[in-house]
Amino acid sequence: MSKQTHAFQAEVAQLLHLVTHSLYSNKEIFLRELISNASDACDKLRFEALNNNALYEDAPELQVRLTFDQTAKTLTISDNGIGMTAQEAIDHLGTIAKSGTKDFMSKLSGDQKADAQLIGQFGVGFYSGFIVADKITVESRRAGAKPEDGVRWISGGTGDFEVEAITRAERGTSVILHLREDALQYANTWKLKEIVGKYSDHISLPILMEKEEWKDGELIDPNDENGGRKPGGMVKTGEWDTINQASALWTRPKKDVTDEQYADFYKQISRDFEAPLTWTHNRVEGSTEYTQLLYIPSKAPHDLWNRDKKAGIKLYVKRVFIMDDAEALMPSYLRFVKGVVDSADLPLNVSRELLQESRDVKAIREGCTKRVLSMLEDLAKHDKAPDSTDGVTDVLSEEDKAKLGQYTQFYAEFGAVLKEGLGEDFGNKDRLTKLLRFASTTSDTVSVSLADYKTRMKEGQDAIYYITADTLAAAKNSPQLEVFKKKGIEVLLMTDRVDEWALNFVHEFDGTPLQSVAKGAFDLGKLQDEEEKKAAETAAESFKPVLAKLKEALKDKAEDVRVTSRLVDSPACLVVTDGGMSMQLARMLKQAGQ
Ligand code: ADP
Ligand code: MG
Repeated sequence: MSKQTHAFQAEVAQLLHLVTHSLYSNKEIFLRELISNASDACDKLRFEALNNNALYEDAPELQVRLTFDQTAKTLTISDNGIGMTAQEAIDHLGTIAKSGTKDFMSKLSGDQKADAQLIGQFGVGFYSGFIVADKITVESRRAGAKPEDGVRWISGGTGDFEVEAITRAERGTSVILHLREDALQYANTWKLKEIVGKYSDHISLPILMEKEEWKDGELIDPNDENGGRKPGGMVKTGEWDTINQASALWTRPKKDVTDEQYADFYKQISRDFEAPLTWTHNRVEGSTEYTQLLYIPSKAPHDLWNRDKKAGIKLYVKRVFIMDDAEALMPSYLRFVKGVVDSADLPLNVSRELLQESRDVKAIREGCTKRVLSMLEDLAKHDKAPDSTDGVTDVLSEEDKAKLGQYTQFYAEFGAVLKEGLGEDFGNKDRLTKLLRFASTTSDTVSVSLADYKTRMKEGQDAIYYITADTLAAAKNSPQLEVFKKKGIEVLLMTDRVDEWALNFVHEFDGTPLQSVAKGAFDLGKLQDEEEKKAAETAAESFKPVLAKLKEALKDKAEDVRVTSRLVDSPACLVVTDGGMSMQLARMLKQAGQ
């Protein structure tokens, strides 16, 4: 085939114009895209070779090599994957077949900054090469084809490209980037290692670079040791180093990964110095396939309360890094969870916008939420050592021993955020309700579950009683607790700012209503004995004239004045009407300027 010139499809020309005119930030994504193509090409070879082992020729080890030449100002990404025929090069590198890219182009606004950011998120595949190169040469030979059937494709990234036949002994593809003057920094070992570490560390394919060694410059005067030397420099050694991990941790079977490796990986992705509290690692199969590796940190970050805080999930598609902080993968109330989701189904060029709409993403989000909740339930279950009754000493496994107190620790750090879920995630409300913990009049630590409370309810008690206050001390000393103390009834003490709001969504637990001790007419029901009831009635009767006077005097300030059996020592207390806003909530709203 002699040299031919082809015009780019109109959309490609348009895209190239954009790539070369509006990309200043985030240049380095070109490497992610080209390495991901190399990795795809190797995946394709692996797949075709299942039925035709000869395709491996004499190079069964699939790999990517990065080489650069500072003098020629080139950077080359080579793979020994499936390769391309001349026709494939014309078709695949001259048109945009991907619906995702077309979709992306329709989103372009013409505003250079916004568009550049979009490209950063999407990547624009092969054409990202033109971010850093003013000319790209692709040389390729398809696996199984004759060496004479190689192809060279050249383009300056404007209207057209050239193709010609070449002879190429090695199978696969080399993409040679002729670097722009402002992109020469990419012809550098450290720079390339850094970018690979950032974006492509978890490509399962080895990425190789030639080792370099320092070599002193020659002596200027060979007869004089102290006569000085010409400047030294790095020289290539002919040996190759694998510069990526080459095996994504989450793709390995659980049994092959040590706790220490899990913890190291956590630190790497979270930039947390402390080890995680716990994690879960699963491959989910079915209509949506993905791998999840999710961690719960041991300490809350300082910006936990920022609702705009990004979720901590990194999204990969088939081991290719797509984006950080993929908030669509985790509900807001689990924003403290860190980890990786690697989907087998999503397109590589998925954007945040598309994520919001995708059904696969919805399934992943639900799956991840359930996993986190199970992980928390497991911690909660093992938080306390089981009571050893009947002289039987419970023997805890090492694993269970390690979990003692972990849920309490988790709850102290993240419990308040978890409560947001009661109002956000109705589907999991029951599970979340079981995960709630409170302090109470019998426990200073925030460790009483609603189920614990129920086991301690008195005969005839038909509500779970709670009080909200700003501090534990204020809650404990409230006059409204007097009668409960007298009768030995436990009351939950709620001091989190979100409690009041969260309780709007929890009216009962396991058939027992939750009742604020500071709300409405007060009725201890069956807990009151006959004598007390009679006393209350007589009191109500004899105080009628006093009440009428008080009501008149307080008519602008109080809705009602009642005789109560709430109090034992104190003469009076304020309560709110049943449907009314609690004092806590009213104070909160006032603070917020409402
Ligand atoms: P995508 O990878 O999403 O398909 P790209 O723009 O990155 O889109 O690449 C376009 C096409 O070019 C690929 O689908 C593939 O057919 C071909 N291609 C690109 N790079 C290579 C390569 N290194 N080896 C073989 N084919 C390649
Ligand atoms: Mg690609």
